Amino acid sequence: MSLCLVIWYNKIMPIHVLPDQLASQIAAGEVVERPYSVVKELVENAIDAGATTINIDIRGGGRESIQVADNGCGIPAAEIELAFMRHATSKLETAEDLAAIHTLGFRGEALAAIAAVSQVTVVSRAVGESSGTRLLLEGGHKVTRETVGAPQGTVMAVENLFYNVPARRKFLKSEAAERRLIDEFVSRYALAYPQIRFRLTHNGRISFQTSGNGQVLDVLTAVYGPEIARQLLPLTEPDPEAPAISEKAIHVTGYIGPPSLHWANRSHISLFVNGRWIKDSSLTFAVIQAYHTLLPVGRYPLGILFISLPAEDVDVNVHPTKVEVRFRHANAVFGAVQRAVRQTLLAETPLRAMGAWSVPGGASHETADWGGSLVPPVRRAPAAGQQDGLGLDWSVGDMGTRGETAVSADTSQPDVSLGGGKLPIMRVVGQVGASYIITEGPDGLFLIDQHAAHERILYEQFMAQRAQDKVVSQGLVSGTAVHLPPSQATLLTENLPLLQQLGFEIEPFGPNAFMVRAVPAILAKGDPAQAVTAVVEDLEQGQEPLAEEIEARIIRRVCKTAAVKAGQTLSRQEMEAMIRQLEACQNPHTCPHGRPTLIYLSVAQLARQFGRL
Ligand code: ADP
Ligand code: MG
Repeated sequence: MSLCLVIWYNKIMPIHVLPDQLASQIAAGEVVERPYSVVKELVENAIDAGATTINIDIRGGGRESIQVADNGCGIPAAEIELAFMRHATSKLETAEDLAAIHTLGFRGEALAAIAAVSQVTVVSRAVGESSGTRLLLEGGHKVTRETVGAPQGTVMAVENLFYNVPARRKFLKSEAAERRLIDEFVSRYALAYPQIRFRLTHNGRISFQTSGNGQVLDVLTAVYGPEIARQLLPLTEPDPEAPAISEKAIHVTGYIGPPSLHWANRSHISLFVNGRWIKDSSLTFAVIQAYHTLLPVGRYPLGILFISLPAEDVDVNVHPTKVEVRFRHANAVFGAVQRAVRQTLLAETPLRAMGAWSVPGGASHETADWGGSLVPPVRRAPAAGQQDGLGLDWSVGDMGTRGETAVSADTSQPDVSLGGGKLPIMRVVGQVGASYIITEGPDGLFLIDQHAAHERILYEQFMAQRAQDKVVSQGLVSGTAVHLPPSQATLLTENLPLLQQLGFEIEPFGPNAFMVRAVPAILAKGDPAQAVTAVVEDLEQGQEPLAEEIEARIIRRVCKTAAVKAGQTLSRQEMEAMIRQLEACQNPHTCPHGRPTLIYLSVAQLARQFGRL
């Protein structure tokens, strides 16, 4: 069928070289996909020109017009037409230059591409020239050129984008959608270039502006508002004990959100490489992974990361839009990003963390305070040693499953209402569905998932013991025999030394059989055989390469097994003991698997629900 089509086409249309105009329109398609791409290219040119002020004026979501004005070096009058030719650039000369790009542009394609599919007016006066030039192009062809008076710098006005490519124009999204892309882009670049004063208007109204005073925190405030900016954590200095990374001269700076700030998608993770905003799913994942167990499942953190590395170690010539890059040492970059985020989080979360997370002796300080206007007072953790053993004296039944997560129905907003840091003092009101504890705080009520909360409590207590190599083990009066299939038996044998450090005492007991002599104290009341089987099944499913990650998995399993289950009626005393211990947790908001432990309803929210406000 396809062969027939080719023959049929060939018959009526012999092979021919496309006319210039059509060829440039096709090429333009790769660079200029939508209004936002025009803004991106023009702003990048302005930054390359050394501008300290960039004003971006958009009309009709960019369909009507996009104007970018800068006070950069300007385009010399003699070169202004050249600037709009394909592959014309002042940023690259030789093939060697391509190996180490220091500017945002280098392909010499953008202006040609933009001009091919729109009507462009440029006014520019180059540094050292006494007058400016105004050039008008339509579909890439010069219409008029004149000498004009103009301040130093460049104003590019792009009108009627895709006026001659109806197919493209049809595919543009709504004005609001195009506008959002532009807003996102400009705020990203404002963050990366805090020394540049940006101003963005839509239809004559200022939508965003920065002062250009060089303070990233001020830009963060302009982008996210003071409430969120206040909570952001600057990335801590690189770990001096990471020679493999510093050798390759990879530096990661920027800001991340505390675990209490999270969104429904990844769009609040922005990555810059040598000042260029890039898309990289692997590095985005590195950021997300560093928050493991700290965020509710399906929620994503905020991160603005500036990665700097030698220009020759990154290839930006991957795609015409220049938003994808290749790293020469991709693993090292991944490691540097993950380490930077982890270290910062660890400094906030002084518990010895798990897996590759482990940075012994992370500094301890209070976590971010309770966010928003819903500000219950922060309660300090009770002194250590108030509780004996690993938990409350509850019997351990079979493994339970937990209820659904419900953090926030509004996916566009962060859950500031849940706040960060510790919990306030709470008064136990009662239990519902034998699964949730209701408590009253200073300014609202909490619904606490008893299983998730208890998992968190046990996890932190276990981790604290583990950090001091003091895991409490409980000997079994008569050992319990466990029989396993051969593959699981091998896995268990391999991990026996690790399990021993975690409080298990297990001996080989014939082919594929083991005798369990002791278990971590928190499992004392449960079925030891079942606990060991669950741990082995977990090990079988996991693919963690590092011993610490395997350890983390085992500990999470032990805590899950030991934790009180949904469906278990608790006495008031038991509930109170649990709440006191949850208040003492460093990360009381999620269970070790990342599901929320509690839902907070403020008095104000209740009043709204009842129509009182
Ligand atoms: P590239 O940025 O890849 O070089 P462009 O097509 O975007 O290609 O721009 C072509 C040339 O036009 C640039 O190399 C630069 O010399 C000049 N130019 C474009 N925009 C500006 C500007 N705002 N200020 C000064 N020069 C500019
Ligand atoms: Mg360019």
